[in-house]
Amino acid sequence: MAQIIDGKIVSAQVRADAAHEVEQLKEQGIHPGLAVVIVGDDPASRVYVNNKKRACAEIGIHSEEYALRAETTQEELLNLVENLNHKKEINGILVQLPLPKHLDEKAVIKAIDPIKDVDAFHAENVGRIMIGDFHFLPCTPAGVMELLRSANIEISGKHCVVIGRSNIVGKPMAMLLLHQNGTVTICHSKTKNLAEVCRNADILVAAVGIPKFVKADMVKPGAVVIDVGMDRDENGKLCGDVDFAQVEPIASYITPVPGGVGPMTIAMLMKNTITAAKLQHQ
Ligand code: NAP
Repeated sequence: MAQIIDGKIVSAQVRADAAHEVEQLKEQGIHPGLAVVIVGDDPASRVYVNNKKRACAEIGIHSEEYALRAETTQEELLNLVENLNHKKEINGILVQLPLPKHLDEKAVIKAIDPIKDVDAFHAENVGRIMIGDFHFLPCTPAGVMELLRSANIEISGKHCVVIGRSNIVGKPMAMLLLHQNGTVTICHSKTKNLAEVCRNADILVAAVGIPKFVKADMVKPGAVVIDVGMDRDENGKLCGDVDFAQVEPIASYITPVPGGVGPMTIAMLMKNTITAAKLQHQ
């Protein structure tokens, strides 16, 4: 039976530390502020934005929501980003993705001042992560690293397999494991003998977006299994990329969905906003 790595407990600790740091910063006259931009009325995006605002309120971070209509033009959105780049009360800018199809996500991310890019999606911040000289780490992979740290899981020398190569999760995840001296394999939809590759993993991270994709025959007994997925099963219930019922009996550690990686993402966003505020007051 695997030990459960509880993201609710670990994220609560990260948020408590963040709240304490915000208090100290306020004593120095620094009031961290986050702007969250949402375009359109995608229900999932609305839930994420509300959760982010709630986390800011809990921690004492000033937050501003910019809810734009679905027909917003590229120019209007870029103008808003430009205004936020210059707004003193705002240290972090988060544009909730995905954007409606007619908007160019890459151009919008590029327009965010890298020092306010608390998602760490800007090319400058991605490059900084590559060379190990970063201010911010993307929230979800950073949250996974925090979960591994909380469970005292050694990464150095371990074979880490990441399934998924998105810019948001898979690629930065692989890079962070590499920085910690993991020997990293990245898998994707064209990977041959995927089950065999995964079975070699000491640490297996699933970021695929397919419900219950990782089955028992893809996991080495005693492996650490991290489930980034936020999927819906056949009954519309939230589940992960890992078939928890099959994998939990053979893994040494496992993260559940919900209550694993998910709560860490917002906690790490709070940390990034604090880092941004400190950087901008240096
Ligand atoms: P994405 O952009 O769709 O990327 C999915 C990756 O999985 C791609 O690299 C794709 O390969 C790979 N893949 C798809 N089918 C595969 C297969 N049959 N075998 C092997 N690899 C396959 O998704 P994402 O944004 O990285 O998100 C992944 C999951 O994490 C989703 O469930 C998402 O909801 C979740 N997520 C959770 C959080 C959180 O806070 N917990 C945050 C972000 C994302 P190709 O590149 O070859 O297409």
